[in-house]
Amino acid sequence: MKMGEQLYEGKAKKVFATDDPACYIVAYKDDATAFNGLKKGTITGKGVVNNRMSNLLFRYLEDCGIPTHFVEELDDRTTVVRRVTIVPLEVIVRNIAAGSFCKRYGAVEGMDLKNPTVEFSYKNDELGDPLINTSHATALGLATQQTIDDITDMTLRINEALKAYFAKVGIILVDFKLEFGITPEGKLILADEISPDTCRLWDATTRQKLDKDRFRQDLGGVEGAYQEVYHRLGLDKA
Ligand code: UDP
Repeated sequence: MKMGEQLYEGKAKKVFATDDPACYIVAYKDDATAFNGLKKGTITGKGVVNNRMSNLLFRYLEDCGIPTHFVEELDDRTTVVRRVTIVPLEVIVRNIAAGSFCKRYGAVEGMDLKNPTVEFSYKNDELGDPLINTSHATALGLATQQTIDDITDMTLRINEALKAYFAKVGIILVDFKLEFGITPEGKLILADEISPDTCRLWDATTRQKLDKDRFRQDLGGVEGAYQEVYHRLGLDKA
């Protein structure tokens, strides 16, 4: 597979065309941003962790019957993925109260939620990714009701699968963000990444934060946290 022209550079990844019109190549960077790009920095080694971790979890989810954009890992930082049109909704799942959920509802960080929650943000940097309800999303033509129902269904299945996977390595999956895409054939599949950038991950024993909150909140030990997740998932030996 040949790498073609760069199509897009995002905050954490670059996307390239390939000689196969059905595929893109994604290259993961060490650049980190938070608070809608207001805070910028570098997390050394993050690109490798996020690329290899996403690919491990996408392969696992495929085995669980969830279709994903994963095609082939080319090297530590680059992966071939299926070309999709991204549904402009960020899908956020929560098992434990943290982050904006606490701010919005006055919940105490760390509170067990009685059920997993699913919420949507409109993926729009200029507007700061505002929370959106499903009638607004369909009214704006961002997705059909059927697509939203299918996303919700897949998301809850993904949550159960990932919670179990992380539990085995002593990690609590607090919350996370997913993005979905639609293939040229019209099939809805999981896209983007699943990494410490997009998940809150806590050590099951100490409840220590092992994710991007260490960067957002200047807690120190940012690189170490990403490496710890990498190690727990066995990626340093694979
Ligand atoms: N998240 C993300 N990208 C975003 C917003 C949120 O990956 O643009 C992830 C975040 O890492 C966390 C979850 O979604 O795991 C819930 O984030 P929250 O809504 O609490 O927002 P935050 O407090 O991170 O701004």
